[in-house]
Amino acid sequence: MKITRLTTYRIPPRWMLLKIETDAGVTGWGEPVIEGRAKTVEAAVHELSSFLIGQDPARINDLWQAMYRGGFYRGGPILMSAIAGVDQALWDIKGKVHNVPVYQLLGGLVRDRMKTYSWVGGDRPADVIAGIRRLREAGFDTFKMNGTEEFGMIASAKDVDAAVERIAEIRSAFGNQIEFGIDFHGRVAAPMAKVLLRELEQYRPLFVEEPVLAEQCEYYPQLAQSTSIPLAAGERMYSRFDFKRVFQQGGIAIVQPDLSHAGGISECIRIASMAEAHDVALAPHCPLGPVALAACLQVDFVSHNAVLQEQSMGIHYNKGAELLDYVVNRDDFTIVGGYIAPLPKPGLGVVIDEQRVEEASRNAPDWRNPLWRHQDGSVAEW
Ligand SMILES: [Mg+2]
Repeated sequence: MKITRLTTYRIPPRWMLLKIETDAGVTGWGEPVIEGRAKTVEAAVHELSSFLIGQDPARINDLWQAMYRGGFYRGGPILMSAIAGVDQALWDIKGKVHNVPVYQLLGGLVRDRMKTYSWVGGDRPADVIAGIRRLREAGFDTFKMNGTEEFGMIASAKDVDAAVERIAEIRSAFGNQIEFGIDFHGRVAAPMAKVLLRELEQYRPLFVEEPVLAEQCEYYPQLAQSTSIPLAAGERMYSRFDFKRVFQQGGIAIVQPDLSHAGGISECIRIASMAEAHDVALAPHCPLGPVALAACLQVDFVSHNAVLQEQSMGIHYNKGAELLDYVVNRDDFTIVGGYIAPLPKPGLGVVIDEQRVEEASRNAPDWRNPLWRHQDGSVAEW
């Protein structure tokens, strides 16, 4: 079997799908995208086609190494997201060829259902309590929200109080009937991360995510020493080589590689195993579309240390399309009591509504995150 064609579709809300075709008529789907740089990743995917066209799609390991090592320069969000989407599509093809879900090819299930959580409250954390109430009716009991808005390198007591009061209100409204993680989103610099973690500890969040940016990861062990809150990070780390440094120095309790940013299923399986060896839990990042989620689930269901799966149903970014809009087999994605079952169909387990994807790609938005600024006019982390 040979790879014959790569087709990319940028689609609302901010996603991109990749279709890889073969001369045997088997087609695989991937989701190579970095949010806000879809066109750049699209160019990278097509650049990679010289490693792929005419090759045997079954040789995923070799094709992965060719894409990674074959260009001399490597790593980073653009290339690793492009490789991720190709890798997902190759696994989809392999599963379809053997007529089994990818998790069967990876050794089979380690669990019967996977715990998921839901976002509440949007870019600027607001209406979180109403959001949680709504989602609890749908069976969710675990949530994530942004911890702050723009946050100064040295923030005022007022800003600290605002962030802490929001969390206090959630605990007082729901007690221990719900769990929640708090995403600092890289908005908080090291001096204030310490302060916020100390103030938030009493509300016992499940985790604090990106307490500081990945490029400040040398602070993770110090911050972990200063708090009992488990620290999470990983959506802005792109390969086992990036994660290696974090595992070596310690401090992170939960790693969150993104299946569409960190080299795909092949690389994230390796990252998951590295995490297990360090007694670190896995919670794949996934504010993206259905192929990315399906890829995450393949890894979750074969990784003993997978504890939580993010998913984007109803997330504040989904303007113009929802998670299952492009999916034919929507029932397979039903979440019951916060849990999702293994996707039963061969390959990644997602059947793409190709006509709908094609139509939507004709009006693809060029999504960008907002550029935030502090009160003094300087650029703020979003
Ligand atoms: Mg995050």
